[in-house]
Amino acid sequence: MVAPVTRPGSTSRTTVRRIPENAVNDREALHQILDSGLVGHVAVVADGQPFVLPVAYARRGSDIVFHGSTGSRLFRALAEGQPTCFTVTLLDGLVVARSAFHSSMHYRSVMALGVARRLEGDDELDALHVITEHLLPGRWSECRPPSTKELAGTMTLALDLNEASVKVGAGDPEDDEADISTPPYSRIWAGVVPLAESFGTPVRSGDCPEDVPIPDYVAGWAR
Ligand SMILES: Cc1cc2nc3c(=O)[nH]c(=O)nc-3n(C[C@H](O)[C@H](O)[C@H](O)COP(=O)(O)OP(=O)(O)OC[C@H]3O[C@@H](n4cnc5c(N)ncnc54)[C@H](O)[C@@H]3O)c2cc1C
Repeated sequence: MVAPVTRPGSTSRTTVRRIPENAVNDREALHQILDSGLVGHVAVVADGQPFVLPVAYARRGSDIVFHGSTGSRLFRALAEGQPTCFTVTLLDGLVVARSAFHSSMHYRSVMALGVARRLEGDDELDALHVITEHLLPGRWSECRPPSTKELAGTMTLALDLNEASVKVGAGDPEDDEADISTPPYSRIWAGVVPLAESFGTPVRSGDCPEDVPIPDYVAGWAR
């Protein structure tokens, strides 16, 4: 049975307690952050040791989908039903406060809890399509599709977003009143330095003939 879709932060495990004013409780924000990120981190425990794996991912409806090798013991543990935690973090700026203590970051982050399920057959192929198009928009219809052997070596997992939270850090530094009003610290600069991801100029592969043009969909990628 599929659990009902809940609002972010609405279960006891996902209620943001530390700086609760940074919690965002709407699904739209959850989806926007996931759709903006390229890399997530998925947690898995093996032999009592926690590991956090950086992975490419995409949102497919109310699921996060991601893939790994069938040879990975960590992915196998997830496929066998180990509970996990998946996070996505977008870093938007550095907050330069008058004190080291209050210096922080602008961010948008998502945490999803649950048990991943393994995707098979056409469902898996569709998820791989969605991941590829999320990372490399326009590429799927031009590149070679996965072979049977490649699919056999790939494990594709989905984690639903039924238990998730969203936290957004924004705004000016929140300095102590004394630091704002009293020299010397009232006389040092404070503010926010925005940080943004961007693509560089595409670099042709050494084995790609010079007369093969860069596709418009690649030239048009922007962040
Ligand atoms: C880029 C970045 C840098 C950060 N740097 C620091 C740091 O240096 N030190 C520090 O203490 N904290 C930092 N944080 C905040 C940190 O992620 C936690 O929110 C914070 O430590 C509070 O943890 P807690 O377990 O006490 O939160 P609680 O509020 O008790 O957590 C309860 C629930 O709230 C949700 N939640 C908590 N944090 C997040 C989150 N970030 N995103 C989405 N859901 C969340 C989860 O569902 C969690 O189970 C940073 C966050 C980001 C995104």
